Amino acid sequence: MVENIRRAFVCGHPIAHSRSPIIHNYWLQQHGLAGSYEAVDVAPADFDAFASSLSRRGFVGGNVTIPHKEAAFRLVARREPAAEQIGAVNTLWLEDGQLCGTNTDAYGFAANLDAFAPGWSDVRVAVVLGAGGAARAIIHALKERGITDIRILNRTTARAHELADTFGENVSAHDLQGVDELVSDAGLVVNTTALGMDGDSGLPANPEYMPDTALVTDIVYVPLETPFLAAARERGLRTVDGLGMLLHQAVPGFERWFGVRPTVTDELRQRVLASMDAH
Ligand code: NAP
Repeated sequence: MVENIRRAFVCGHPIAHSRSPIIHNYWLQQHGLAGSYEAVDVAPADFDAFASSLSRRGFVGGNVTIPHKEAAFRLVARREPAAEQIGAVNTLWLEDGQLCGTNTDAYGFAANLDAFAPGWSDVRVAVVLGAGGAARAIIHALKERGITDIRILNRTTARAHELADTFGENVSAHDLQGVDELVSDAGLVVNTTALGMDGDSGLPANPEYMPDTALVTDIVYVPLETPFLAAARERGLRTVDGLGMLLHQAVPGFERWFGVRPTVTDELRQRVLASMDAH
């Protein structure tokens, strides 16, 4: 008898760098499940056809990453509220033959801070540096946790205003000139800009101006300790790196496709870190 293997995927373009197969295959193995999770390179022109034929291709669902998250948002027949608010879909599944989608980045961000800095959302002021796709998920998480003064700062101020308009109450937009003063009473400072990635030494804000009680987190996780996190640590502030966000955002998808809610363990974290060292 042929065993019924549930198949899931991550699709993006490019996709070779994705750590998602390591995460999901670790959990499949840990739980002894007959399933698979594979990386599929899908060019932008082919995404609609790919996503519309999941069942025929034998998939129960999968993850969507750059550059397909907005296309997936438009394509699904049904979206969960988080995706609706964020405007992007990173997790797909089939339900009654219909393509459904959600966004688990906000969940992943909050779960990472819950794990490493419990009580992190008991602050009045949060500063979000950057106004790209990831910032939308972070702002959604901050609003959900009830933070009442969320300040978005971005190099391109118009994008910050666009986000503030989308999220409405408790969210304001600013340009980078005011950064020193805007972080001076922040309980939480989040970098969502690409600054600090892979050898870039730029700092999105100066930790010297932050209060002693500020928690600083960066969603960039290559390198694991970005120059921004290193500067915050040297200044004596609490810091949380961005790898946990990636690990936790994978939890809801795995549960939906394979029927078991997995756990983010230190062993999993070490496995992903080892894969990063290998490249
Ligand atoms: P995105 O939509 O392209 O946005 C990039 C942001 O970075 C924009 O706000 C952009 O400002 C800013 N930026 C880029 N270069 C800059 C510079 N030299 N100086 C100042 N600001 C600069 O990207 P995204 O999807 O939001 O992702 C942002 C980062 O988060 C990426 O590094 C990504 O790998 C990481 N990420 C991590 C996770 C995780 O699970 N940990 C999840 C998602 C994303 P402008 O608007 O002015 O261009």
